[in-house]
Amino acid sequence: MLINEKSRLALISVSGDPAAEIGKEEAGGQNVYVRQVGLALAKQGWHVDMFTRRIDPDQANIVQHEPNCRTIRLTAGPAKFINRDQVFGYLPEFVQQFQAFQEQEGYQYPLVHTNYWLSSWVGMELKKLQPLKQVHTYHSLGAVKYRAVSNLPAIASTRLAVEKACLETADRIIATSPQEEEHMRNLVSSKGMIEIIPCGTDIERMGSIARKEAREQLGIPPEAKVVLYVGRFDPRKGIETLVRAIAQSRWNGNTNVRLIIAGGFRPGQSDGMECDRIKAIVKELGLEAMTFFPGRLTDAELPSYYAAANVCVVPSHYEPFGLVAIEAMACGTPVIASKVGGLQFTVIPEVTGLLVPPQDEAAFAQGIDRILSNPAWADQLGEIGQQRVEIAMSWESVARRLNSVYSKLMSQVAVKSVQKPQVAA
Ligand code: UDP
Repeated sequence: MLINEKSRLALISVSGDPAAEIGKEEAGGQNVYVRQVGLALAKQGWHVDMFTRRIDPDQANIVQHEPNCRTIRLTAGPAKFINRDQVFGYLPEFVQQFQAFQEQEGYQYPLVHTNYWLSSWVGMELKKLQPLKQVHTYHSLGAVKYRAVSNLPAIASTRLAVEKACLETADRIIATSPQEEEHMRNLVSSKGMIEIIPCGTDIERMGSIARKEAREQLGIPPEAKVVLYVGRFDPRKGIETLVRAIAQSRWNGNTNVRLIIAGGFRPGQSDGMECDRIKAIVKELGLEAMTFFPGRLTDAELPSYYAAANVCVVPSHYEPFGLVAIEAMACGTPVIASKVGGLQFTVIPEVTGLLVPPQDEAAFAQGIDRILSNPAWADQLGEIGQQRVEIAMSWESVARRLNSVYSKLMSQVAVKSVQKPQVAA
């Protein structure tokens, strides 16, 4: 089949492999976003290739997700996991490998959608080498992140400069919430073209199970009160605040209450160390009997956990968007979240859940008390949250809006085919 060159799209996510297992250190919202956006765009007729950096010599070069959607792993630097802050030096090799891939395939992508600042640099370099439109999603802004950090990493000034250059030169920047756009304007640059398109979730899968059924599946009694956290083990996620809030709440010691803290952890790695720290606090506060750590939840398990919960707590210190909040909402579960970043856009206080100041244990405790003590009100919050997500935050609707951005940009592009190299006989 002859593919219209204008329907080729490269999603670049150097540091977040869309084919990776989600929920462990460094594999979170960005990986989900790239993969789901890629799949949804493929359904809408795009030929989507998602490029990432190989982090294991045994990984497949290419993972075919759907006939017109695949993950392509390029070798840039050592084939092992490297902290994001150490990856910048390998980006020129990533650019070379990307070009070599194009040459081998016999075409050039007319449009790249880059993700996170590392990939934005790749996109800007490629733009110097070929006709190209660049769309960019930040996922996290150094200018915001570094405000809360006392010891700046060595890469900080490079990251800030790259983020500014990208905002000013990309053909379109996607902000996932009005709060993110405001941060870009106030902290990065007044130049550049920004469009707000939220993140999404799989509303059919998430809403596929009712609380009663989910609890039967998980062995949770109908009368139990379940407080749920889902996410990576990272101090920035504020799990400690949640644990201390439970200890302060009037539910402490109530044998009917369960605190479920779900997320992957690997012994000896930073997520494993954070998990150990949280377990030590749980022990110190005497919450061991009511606290459960089921580990990483797979895509198939997530809906049951969200549906089984009476409330999902997102206690992050900062959150550019926060997929977990909308996933819980899609399952009809109310959310108590920190009043930060994109959570202020997704959670409508007193309507779909509650927003409280970050790291404020007493405020989280009070919020948990309110929701657990008023089941009818909690159900109402959950229902409205579900409607909110269904209307504006399915991956299909996100992809439709991206599709319209891409199509506008593509109408300005001339497409060039590259001669496929002859293979020697
Ligand atoms: N996640 C998962 N399994 C887990 C924990 C998390 O699949 O055990 C997923 C979660 O469902 C969500 C993503 O990881 O889609 C986390 O994204 P979010 O934006 O909330 O946070 P980030 O990890 O990007 O900081």
